[in-house]
Formats: sequence, C-alpha cells, structure tokens
Amino acid sequence: MKSKRKEYIAQFYRGNRGMFLLAALTALLTSGLHLVIARALQQMIDGISGVPGAPGLAGMAGWIAAVLALILLIQAMEYSFQPRFIQKGMQQYKEYAFGKLTRKSLESFDQEASARYLAAFSRDAETIEAGCLEGRFQLLTSAADFIGALVMMLLYSPVMTGISCAFFILPAGVSLLMGRRIQQAERQVSQKNETFTATLKDSLGGFSVMKSFRAEGPIQALFAGSNRAMEQAKCQKRRQVIALGTLASLAGVLAQLGTFWAGAWLAFSGARITPGVLIVFINLAAYVIEPLQVIPERLAALRAAEGLIDKLADALEEPARQPGTPLPDRLRQGIELRDVCFSYKGESRPALEHISARFEAGGCYAVVGGSGSGKSTLLGLLTAGRRNYSGEILYDGRELKTVSIESLYDLVGLIQQKVFLFDASIRDNITLFRDFPQEQVEQAVQKAGLAALIEARGPAYRCGENGRGLSGGEQQRVAIARSLLKQSQVLLVDEATAALDPATARQVTLSILELAGITRILVTHRLDETLLRRCDGILALKDGRIAEFGAFDQLMASKGYFYSLFTVTQ
Ligand code: ADP
Ligand code: MG
Repeated sequence: MKSKRKEYIAQFYRGNRGMFLLAALTALLTSGLHLVIARALQQMIDGISGVPGAPGLAGMAGWIAAVLALILLIQAMEYSFQPRFIQKGMQQYKEYAFGKLTRKSLESFDQEASARYLAAFSRDAETIEAGCLEGRFQLLTSAADFIGALVMMLLYSPVMTGISCAFFILPAGVSLLMGRRIQQAERQVSQKNETFTATLKDSLGGFSVMKSFRAEGPIQALFAGSNRAMEQAKCQKRRQVIALGTLASLAGVLAQLGTFWAGAWLAFSGARITPGVLIVFINLAAYVIEPLQVIPERLAALRAAEGLIDKLADALEEPARQPGTPLPDRLRQGIELRDVCFSYKGESRPALEHISARFEAGGCYAVVGGSGSGKSTLLGLLTAGRRNYSGEILYDGRELKTVSIESLYDLVGLIQQKVFLFDASIRDNITLFRDFPQEQVEQAVQKAGLAALIEARGPAYRCGENGRGLSGGEQQRVAIARSLLKQSQVLLVDEATAALDPATARQVTLSILELAGITRILVTHRLDETLLRRCDGILALKDGRIAEFGAFDQLMASKGYFYSLFTVTQ
C-alpha cells in the first residue's frame, strides 16, 4: 500500500523540487524570525532597564531594522515560492490520478461507484492539499520553532528551562495522543462525503425521473439524510480539534505561569535574572508549547491526507492481467461462442447458459428475447466487459481471454441506448477530439445519416450538455458515426433505438443494416418484420438460454419461441 502512495506523492515533487526547497527554506526562516524577535525584545527591555552591556537607542533601532528586513524578506519568499509549489504539485497529482482512471479497464470501473472519484478529485483533493502540502511547511516551521526555542532557552538558563518544561509536559503528552482520533474523524468525514456526493449525483442525474414520479419528497429526505450524516461527521471532527486545542492551551498557560514562577523563585534565591530574560522566556515558552499543539494536529492531518491518497490509489489500482496478444485489425471469419455460461458475482442463477452460436464476419444479426433474458449480458461478454465466463468466445478463432483489450476495443464498437455526448461541437463529438482526414469524417457522417443535419447546422454546432441540443435519433447517429470513423469491424448495438419513436428507430436501424462489410449484432425488442427479414440470423434468448437461432422465415415456419414472441408483439 505504501509503495503505491509513493507514486502519487512523487507527483507533488516532479520537476518541483527546487520550488519545494525554496518554500521549505521560507518556512525555516519564519521560525528564525521568531527567535530573532525574542532576542530583540530581550535586548531592548534590558536596554531600557539599564542592564550593563545591553544596547542603547542606536542598537535598539538596529534590532528593529533587522526584524523589519527579515519580515519583508520572508513575505517576499512566501509569496513567490509556496503557492507556485502547491499549484504545480496539485496539478500533477490530479492529472496523474486522472490518467490512471482513464486507463482503467471497463471491467474494473463498472463495478464501482463513480461518486468515489468525484469526491477524490474535489473534497479529498482539498484535504490532501491542506494536509500534505500546506501542512508540511507549517510542520517545518513548528518543528524548527520547538528546537530553536528550546535551545535558546537552555542557553539563557538551563534551570529555568527545566522548571518551565516540567509544567507543560503532562498536557502536551495528552494532546499528542489525541492526534490519532482526529485522523479517524477525518476518514469518517471522507466516507460520509462520498455517500453525500453519490446522492447528489443520482438526484441530479435522475432529475426528470424525480419530477415525473413526483418523488421530490423522498429525494429531499434522501439528500437530508446523507447531508446530515456528513455534517455530523464534520462536527465530530471539529470537536476533536477543539478538544486538542483545549489541552494545548492549558499547556500553554501552565508553561507561561510556570515560567513566571520559576523566574521569581530563581530571583528570590539570588540568581541574576534580568527583566529581558524573563520576557524572553515567556516569549519562547510559547514557541515550545505551540508546536506541541500544532505538530500532532498537523501530523494527524498529514496521516489523514495520506489515508485519502491510499484510498484513491486503491480505487485506481488495476488488477494485474495478462497483456494478451493483439487481434488483427480486420475480422475475417467471424465470432463464435462455444458453450458459454456466465453468472454475475453473487447471483445463484446463471445469466447465460450453454450459449453456442456463430456470427459470420460481415453479417447482420438480431438478438431478441424478453426483458432479463440475457441480451445485454451477451453483448457485455462480447466486449470483454466480464471475463469470468466458462466456455469459449472466439474472434477469428482467438479466445477473447488471450487477446489484448486495446485491440478488441479497436475492432469492436458498442452503441447503447444512452449516448454519451460532450458539450462540444458535433464534429468533436464524432471524432472524440481526435484528428481524422476530412473525407473520412464526411464518409462516416454520410453513412450514419447525419449529412442533412450537419448541412443545416454546420459541423461546429454545439451538442449541449448531455447532448440536449440533439434529438434522440441524432444522438444515436452520432454514436454510429463514431464507430464508423474508428473503423470498427464489429458493431454491437444494444437497444440503441428503444427510446426513439418508431419511424426514427426504423431509419436508424436501416442505416445500420446498410453498413455492408461490418459485422453487426443488434439487440432489439422491437420486432419489425422488414428489418428482421434483412438479418442473416435471429438469435432468440429465453431465460439465458438459446431458444432458437435462424433466419426469419425459418423461425416463423417452425412456429417456436420466436414465432410466439413475434405474433404477441404484432
Ligand atoms: P436483457 O438485456 O435481456 O434485458 P440482461 O442481460 O440485462 O437482460 O440481464 C440478464 C439477467 O442478469 C437478468 O436476470 C438480470 O437481472 C441479471 N443482471 C443483469 N446485470 C446484472 C448485474 N450487474 N448484476 C447481477 N445481475 C445482473
Ligand atoms: Mg438489456
């Protein structure tokens, strides 16, 4: 787990080390400034009190000038280095994680909630920024404060240092132990935020469903529940932070009063304690105490942030798989299934049983069957969406499990009911932002039946968020054009036209039927005779098994399952 985290943390420092070192130097100088101010106060107070050897007016002015110069220098450095380091670091971290996310296989992505990633790139990233990057510099300043102040106190008076330390050791120890609880609380907050993001995402995604089912009330309640849980977790965390702060300030007060007491005691017993030294002790005690509060808090935040990095790293981890050999870029013979059985994880009933079928290259096939009969599952298996099937799935005689996923994606295009569209131009939505020769794009547009639309609106017409600027049929055509453009040899179409009106659905299906040379498998529950007649074969599924497989006339003549399905829907 640690080694994975390292890769991610390395992104903060990639090409960014110089900036980090300069920012770290600034943090150390900040602590140096604290000591210089303490020393300046001691010198000036002793000067005023007439302690021999202390500076006069000119010397005091010198101290003031030195402090001012140091402050200006530190501020200028802080302005220049830290923000730049954090910007680049966070940018690289998120880009790295997103890169991993995009390279994730469909198989391992599908099974997770995308809300986890939304949280990882928004709130978690902010927590990481505060805990891992900003926090590191505060840690450095605090650690340097602690050591510097302690050393300086010892130099002034070891006895007084010993006495004042004795006063705050106990509360400081308790606050150190509290750090762990904050870390736990932070993890809780992150978890609740994930649920909250998921609820929000679902509510927005299902907005029209909510409206049409008048489900505003229940959805509001769902939102309120996860919102409350998240705010409660944040409240818990805030309380832990406050409790830690209380202990720390108790330690602070005790130390300062203790220092006074120690000074008085030493003065009574005849030791030479100047007013300046007494002030410097009270001043420095704060710099010993504050780190005792800040360091555990910062360390806890750092651990919590690292925990979030681990969480993301785990989610993005890809199970090791055999790379597989690439498929040729043309399908020559066809696709064959041999006694394929498949069950979803945790389901006792298999979704597909003993499926054996052959789809010839360049042919057009329809897969029909009742809802839940396994049609989508079959297409999922053909796109290597899931690999834990038994039997064989062969592309030109090559078992799917042994081929490289990338080459399969090059060969196969999947079109579903929901077309994913970016809020970009039609052209970019067709090319998916890649470069293609103009004539290739035009050809795909022509074949997909988009020519008239592009003629009317222009290739730069924006599709709008989720493609709201296009009709359902047009969206499907964009999806077809995409697959044509990437020269998919195999087109798998899962109820692509289910949401369209019959006339549009027919036109879109016709465009697909006319794509000669491409192997097409169309899942459809719309049993349109003229279209089905044009298919080379119809595979009728029933409860995960093949009921029948044959040409339209043949199936109608045998008056079996397909016949009854067909006559019922007419
Ligand atoms: P169809 O597309 O023919 O309507 P599916 O292939 O989607 O049917 O589903 C076949 C069977 O598998 C159904 O019983 C369905 O409930 C089940 N199923 C589908 N997807 C999953 C899943 N992700 N997890 C578990 N069971 C599933
Ligand atoms: Mg389906």
